[in-house]
Amino acid sequence: MKLTKNLYFYPEKGMLDCNTYVIRDNISIIIDPGLTQFLPELLQDLHRDGIDPKDIGIITNTHLHGDHYWANEAFKKISGAKIVSHPIQKKFWDTTVIQTSRFFGLPTAEFTEDRLLDNDKLSAGELEFELIHSPGHSSDSICFYCKSEKILICGDVIFNQNTGRVDLPGGNADELKQSILKLSQLEIEYLLPGHMDIIIGQEKVKNNFEFVKKYIFSQL
Ligand SMILES: [Zn+2]
Ligand SMILES: [Zn+2]
Repeated sequence: MKLTKNLYFYPEKGMLDCNTYVIRDNISIIIDPGLTQFLPELLQDLHRDGIDPKDIGIITNTHLHGDHYWANEAFKKISGAKIVSHPIQKKFWDTTVIQTSRFFGLPTAEFTEDRLLDNDKLSAGELEFELIHSPGHSSDSICFYCKSEKILICGDVIFNQNTGRVDLPGGNADELKQSILKLSQLEIEYLLPGHMDIIIGQEKVKNNFEFVKKYIFSQL
């Protein structure tokens, strides 16, 4: 589903899947391809929007929990795209990938990144994203912020009327609150989380930050 001229949204397809975002620009980027078992459906969705996976150049993730990165390697095989991780995600690989898989009693899905993102920027062409390290749900959470279009792709940091959980390895309630307070300062028209609904409209996004601060922070 097309959200803006360059941005597409594919809602999670079931338990343990996640929302997927595609940026279609000079370089096309897929953020969080989700679970491998839902990949055929995701490919159909892309096809319906006229997106050939072979046109996608970069696979990247908001953080390295299995529900977000499981299909990285399979998508790479189909598309020929490069897997590009943030240096923070490499740094916290053991906590986020290995220990979290162990926490759930799940195997670790293998993938190898082809290269690392620059620390603070990802340019797709017309759209340029600032990469904001936002720990708390996981140590390695990165938000993708496009200032010109007021887009924030925020993974599991903040949701519609909720936040990401903080009980997984590397989780930390105080860090999550700090991350959310920092993000709440940004001008955001499109708040695009890793699960459940997206929020469109600056007023609605602002209200959601207020709701979370007021009702959810005290429960963390
Ligand atoms: Zn997560
Ligand atoms: Zn998730």
